[in-house]
Amino acid sequence: MTGGIQLKSKEELARMREASLFTYEVLEEIEKAVAPGISLEELDAIAERETKKRGGVCAFKGMYGFPRNICISVNEQVVHGIPTKRKLVEGDLCKLDFGVVLHGFYGDSARTVAVGKISPAARQLLDATRDSLEAGIRAMVVGNRISDIGAAIESSVAPFGFGIVRDYVGHGIGRKLHEEPQVPNYGPSHWGASQKNPRMQPGMVLAVEPMINLGTHEVETLPDGWTVVTADGKYSAHWEHTIAITDDGPKVLTRP
Ligand code: MG
Ligand code: MG
Repeated sequence: MTGGIQLKSKEELARMREASLFTYEVLEEIEKAVAPGISLEELDAIAERETKKRGGVCAFKGMYGFPRNICISVNEQVVHGIPTKRKLVEGDLCKLDFGVVLHGFYGDSARTVAVGKISPAARQLLDATRDSLEAGIRAMVVGNRISDIGAAIESSVAPFGFGIVRDYVGHGIGRKLHEEPQVPNYGPSHWGASQKNPRMQPGMVLAVEPMINLGTHEVETLPDGWTVVTADGKYSAHWEHTIAITDDGPKVLTRP
């Protein structure tokens, strides 16, 4: 324990790797099905089926009362979208945010998927958000501080002038989906007073998840109480990995 942060043992890291790879495999199956004409409910059913088939449990179902197995957010929706009968159409930007719990440990990962051909602006947003996550991961080195992750994401995105969502952040992960510390996707200049900035240590596992908007960083929640949308209605992208900090550098657990 370091100030509420749960450091994971080698054995625990091995189990987290299992849960994380499981998350990756199910996400792969869901992404394969993304195409114009499929409904978000159908994608949710694939998440449930593929998770049960492999012997895991969908982590988000019932978490804080969330009604479905996966969060699917389309276009101006940022995160926490509830799968509905809505059908995807060509040009949509579809964010799949999925987690499982396996043998007591959580995996958490998100990706943005292009539905058919998307606009050049949407493509640039998708790519820049994925690249910013990689920049954040490269900063996850023993001895660096949590703020180095957000600072790296921020400088990666800065040349595009995109808005970085501030109201939602990454998090520690392990036996709980959300553990300490919070991991902002922006540098300390926008941090609140309560945000802690510990040094990274071997055994820390973090879910880093930049949410990047084409326009303003400001977001709102729809009347359904869940779906977060951009305040200006412009597109948003979201990428997330579960990552372990080790003496040998960052290990991304949610990809092979
Ligand atoms: Mg997630
Ligand atoms: Mg997360």
